[in-house]
Amino acid sequence: MSAAEVIRTVDVAVVGAGSMGSMALWHLARSTGMSVLGVEQYGPAHGHAAFAGESRLFRAANKEGALYTAAALEARALWTELERETGRQLLLKTGVLAIAPEGHPFLESTQRSIVEGDLPHRFLDAAELRREYPQFTVEDGDIGIMDLLGGGLRSELAVATAQRAAIRRGAEILYNTPVLGIDEHESGVVISTSEGIVHAQKVIVTTGAWTTRIVPEVRDLVSAIAIPLTWFMPEDISQFTPDRFPCWMRDLDGDHAFGVPALDGYSVKIAPTTRIDTIEDPDTDPRELSREQLRRCTAIATRMFPGILPEVVRSSIHPESATADHVPILDVSESGRTIIGAGFSGNGFKFSPAYGRVLAQLAESGSSALQHPLFTLGHHRRRAQARADDLVLADDYPVLQGH
Ligand SMILES: Cc1cc2nc3c(=O)[nH]c(=O)nc-3n(C[C@H](O)[C@H](O)[C@H](O)COP(=O)(O)OP(=O)(O)OC[C@H]3O[C@@H](n4cnc5c(N)ncnc54)[C@H](O)[C@@H]3O)c2cc1C
Repeated sequence: MSAAEVIRTVDVAVVGAGSMGSMALWHLARSTGMSVLGVEQYGPAHGHAAFAGESRLFRAANKEGALYTAAALEARALWTELERETGRQLLLKTGVLAIAPEGHPFLESTQRSIVEGDLPHRFLDAAELRREYPQFTVEDGDIGIMDLLGGGLRSELAVATAQRAAIRRGAEILYNTPVLGIDEHESGVVISTSEGIVHAQKVIVTTGAWTTRIVPEVRDLVSAIAIPLTWFMPEDISQFTPDRFPCWMRDLDGDHAFGVPALDGYSVKIAPTTRIDTIEDPDTDPRELSREQLRRCTAIATRMFPGILPEVVRSSIHPESATADHVPILDVSESGRTIIGAGFSGNGFKFSPAYGRVLAQLAESGSSALQHPLFTLGHHRRRAQARADDLVLADDYPVLQGH
């Protein structure tokens, strides 16, 4: 087949069937009468994207503030709908336990989100933490907040499941088909792929860390970063299974880590956040943690958990797209034909069914009630200009910290 041949003509094409793209495909296929095509450079659920690495945290009580509560609650309802539609268990309802010294800013902002959103929760003092969760090192003065609507998501399974659900409802996905470029015309969008041309009325671009390659206009707003994950072997795995051990975030001695219970029968995810800022090429760099980085992760993990073996048994690094203030972009280009979902900044997976719906609604009607004004290109351009001019804007808000 010649790369210049028209291979499909559709109403909406979704470029990048990862976390957000798969969910946008599901919503488009289930709630609109439009013809829908996904175009993905790899296979259905692969190891190269931001969703890879077994699991992600779902928090309803976001330490980044109540700005995200509506999206989190909408997403939780949609996770349940996707589970019901497909018969797959995607959300592990373990709760998310945040432990930190009393007064820690993350605990305070989590508590504010809980109060403002009236979210179900539990506070635990140091004695209760030691009694109920002996897996953690607990210092005098530590307190815990259990986000009872929180839990863990099986991320590769979720992406593959959303794709299957979309396909069952009539969407088509072209796998192993890199998109090489997108050109907007008056009558539509011309998408050049390795296999030929796709004509669409609208295109949703959800290409994660690869976004600036496909939409160079957002180069000033979005960058590619990488986030590592690590797993450790507990001495007693039965202490770390989802029936006894929740998803968690821990701040101790100035270090932050997060994790998910043991899902593979031998190891538990304990990931000290050592985000790698700005990577050049999401296809190649970086793919492995250095010996020094592994040693540092081990030191943090063994300090937080007395009952684990002092060595990383599994690790991986995943590319992600980020904005300067970690607020995502979910918006339509000036022409109205290109819809962009990018810059989820280590924090987007939990919201993906809600953000996928926003993207689908933007493609269908040009607006979405869940599109917060901070998520617009206009907002991000104003912030970029203010940064360039060294100005502090009046509408300042907390920076997202990830997961
Ligand atoms: C290690 C790590 C831990 C995280 N932890 C959490 C957490 O606990 N909780 C949470 O809510 N969030 C978390 N996040 C964030 C969350 O996983 C991401 O925000 C989310 O997965 C981003 O989704 P995306 O659709 O933008 O990108 P991706 O899921 O990476 O999807 C992009 C897709 O586009 C495809 N693509 C790219 N270029 C092209 C092209 N030219 N042609 C065709 N296809 C293309 C890619 O192959 C990929 O499939 C974490 C992220 C990382 C990296």
